[in-house]
Formats: sequence, C-alpha cells, structure tokens
Amino acid sequence: MKIICIGRNYQQHALELNNPVPSSPMIFMKPSTALLVNNKPLYYPEFTKDLHYEVEIVLKICKNGRHVDPEFADSYYEQVGLGIDFTARDLQNELKAKGHPWELAKAFDNSAAISDFVDKKDISTKDSINFSLQKNGEMVQEGNTKDLIFSFNTLICYISKYFKLHVGDLIYTGTPAGVGPVKIGDTLTGFIGDRQMLTCEIK
Ligand code: MG
Repeated sequence: MKIICIGRNYQQHALELNNPVPSSPMIFMKPSTALLVNNKPLYYPEFTKDLHYEVEIVLKICKNGRHVDPEFADSYYEQVGLGIDFTARDLQNELKAKGHPWELAKAFDNSAAISDFVDKKDISTKDSINFSLQKNGEMVQEGNTKDLIFSFNTLICYISKYFKLHVGDLIYTGTPAGVGPVKIGDTLTGFIGDRQMLTCEIK
C-alpha cells in the first residue's frame, strides 16, 4: 500500500506558513513504514527540534483504478479516518531552502498516525466534515472539508493520472490552519465531529 499526502490544501494553512496557495494539488508520499496505528505513542525523533502535528481527514481507497473520471471518483472510497501528518518542520525548512525533496522531514517511521475508519455514509454531512485536534485537552486545530482547495473527488482524479490507486491506499487530504509543535509528554487527541478518533502521546 502507499500513503499519498496533499500539501497546502486549506488556504489559511498555506498562508500561515508563508506559502503560496497552489493552483494544482501538491503531492508527496510516505512509505508504509510511516504508519502509526492503534493509538501507539510517537517517540520524538532525534533528528528534529521542531516536530509539528498536522491533523487531516484520510480517505481509504476501496477499488483499484487509473485515470479515474470525475463522475466515478466518489466510488473509490467508502471509508474515512483521521490522521496526523507528523512533520519535522525545521528539517523541512532546510530541505525546502535547498530545493530538496521533503521525505526526510515528512516520511520517517511513524510519521503517519492513523485512526480506525468509519463508513462515509455514517457521516451525515460527507461534503462538510468537521474535524479537530486537541493538545493536552486544548483545541489547536479545527477544520471543515468544505474549505478544501481541492475536493476529495478532484484529488482522486488527479492522483490517479500519475499513480494507479490500489485497494488500501490512503490519501491524507491536507491540514487546516493551526499546525504547531509538540514536546515529549504532550498528548494529541483527534476528532471527527464529536467522535474521538485517535490519541497519540509523544514520548
Ligand atoms: Mg500535511
């Protein structure tokens, strides 16, 4: 399986990091070794001093497909989850300044926390999903998928022009504004609507 991630897909988040708002989806990937499941803790990596959380809605691909047409894109995912795209922000800034790829800062082991998945039909407002992240019980990120620059269906069409989608692939659809650092001892708790989806302690 592969993990496909979208950068800068909420305008307010692009602006908070002084990045331009993209005109086409910005894509990067993480290997399967990045997955952090079952609410396991994340051990603070030794190669960063500025580890950030980015809470994101995650789509689970349920059909194989290439060059997906817009009218069929919706049928390529039946379940959604909540993920945290952990980012070594200091390292990412160094890599960006050199024009290098982001993988060292974004795709390291356990950098993709993921919740269990829920059927999209059980989320009453599929096109307007509220989601949020708390740090030590305080709200730090709140988003709604109606504010996505590139919709779920647009992403599925775009990605599948370049990468064949396989059953089980995950798409991290981007983070809203409010990203920030964690330190050892912090606990992150993520929600879709009122439903607690995941927790992650930083150790
Ligand atoms: Mg992200």
